[in-house]
Amino acid sequence: GAFLGRIEQANASLNAFITVDPGKSLAQAKAADARIARGEARPLTGIPIAHKDLFCADGWRTTCGSKILGNWIAPYDAHVIEQFNAAGAVLLGKTNMDEFAMGSSNENSHFGPVKNPWDLTAVPGGSSGGSAAAVAARLAPAATGTDTGGSIRQPASFTGTSGIRPTYGRVSRYGMVAFASSLDQGGALGKTAEDLAIMLEVMAGFDPRDSTCMDRPKDDYVGALEKGVKGVKGLRIGLPKEYFSKDLARDVAEPILAAIEQYKKLGATVVEVSLPNQGLSVPAYYVIAPAEASSNLSRFDGVRYGFRAEGYTDLLDMYKKTRAQGFGAEVKRRIMVGTYVLSHGYYDAYYLQAQKIRRLIARDFTEAFKQCDLIAGPAAPSVAFDLGAKNNDPVKMYLDDLYTIPINLAGLPGLSIPCGFGDKGRPVGLQIVGNYFDEARMLAAAHAFQ
Ligand code: GLN
Repeated sequence: GAFLGRIEQANASLNAFITVDPGKSLAQAKAADARIARGEARPLTGIPIAHKDLFCADGWRTTCGSKILGNWIAPYDAHVIEQFNAAGAVLLGKTNMDEFAMGSSNENSHFGPVKNPWDLTAVPGGSSGGSAAAVAARLAPAATGTDTGGSIRQPASFTGTSGIRPTYGRVSRYGMVAFASSLDQGGALGKTAEDLAIMLEVMAGFDPRDSTCMDRPKDDYVGALEKGVKGVKGLRIGLPKEYFSKDLARDVAEPILAAIEQYKKLGATVVEVSLPNQGLSVPAYYVIAPAEASSNLSRFDGVRYGFRAEGYTDLLDMYKKTRAQGFGAEVKRRIMVGTYVLSHGYYDAYYLQAQKIRRLIARDFTEAFKQCDLIAGPAAPSVAFDLGAKNNDPVKMYLDDLYTIPINLAGLPGLSIPCGFGDKGRPVGLQIVGNYFDEARMLAAAHAFQ
């Protein structure tokens, strides 16, 4: 009830939620109360959680930030939603996002941009900007997100929240509207690393309905935090020398370097590592992600889901009008790029090249992790930028993903925790990257810092 009140008060200015349904949420809360009364409470029983509006939740409108799904009611629960239901959590509402998770500022939503609670003239980051703003403004204690190229870590950095993208395959993608299937991974945003550990404990786990979900026991993420600062002693933190280039704003570099100093004081050893192919990651991603998106989004044809244009002459005309009216500009741009790079004659020149670069980037990390346990650096090259600042220049917007994308291409886990403030008092996030399935160690290190 208290959080629903906060949403009613603040959502008009922040636009963090696309859908709230107090009746449904309060009914779930009542059921949770009964469970607690029966002594059947679990860690999240009765706790309201917000979900990015691309997780299907039975009976809830699930828009993916798009007009094409604007009136679509999901007929089933995503695996992630099932897990939260089983834990007794309450679905608080569905959060705003860039259309089909394509964007870094939340300005690509059909439902309007989200504002950054720290400064209403700044973007909250994207594409999980609604989730990040909701957590930052205390409209929700924690929220889910997805991270295909940085969409959890970058908004966490911009809003002074904590956010984790787990290893590819750690969380089931079943019931999560697909953007780029080989990169998409569900994760969480919260105030602290402890929140993230609790969330991941619920979300992670094997699901045979996602063929890339790993059948591997989950670690004790919450238990791992207990080591506290003692756990940092002897930890080898890798600092990639490529990270501190002219691309990184001074007001971000300073708090990041101060955070590294803090880790040294706690007993960590800092080693210089190298990720030589880092610079190729943005171009490779912006071939691979649109290629997969162009295929995934072919299902939105006006027949199977949601919106259908009016006034068409035949089937082909209906497809054309539905897609022309239903998708926004950025989504169309990606479908065109993706179709182009997959087409005969261009496949070898673009798609295959990008896949080779992807391999090189993954190998860079494998080499680096021979010398260190975790890698630290910025989550984004700058603090939150102003609304409208990059909206008319897609390449400028794409370059903002420079520090997050390599991790997605390699399939690694990464998190961002707040570590200070840059210009105009806007938050800065410290990114911590771990080796495959090393989320517990990452969370423990983040917790020790906090
Ligand atoms: N900003 C990136 C993009 O636009 C990443 C988005 C994401 O992680 N979903 O593709």
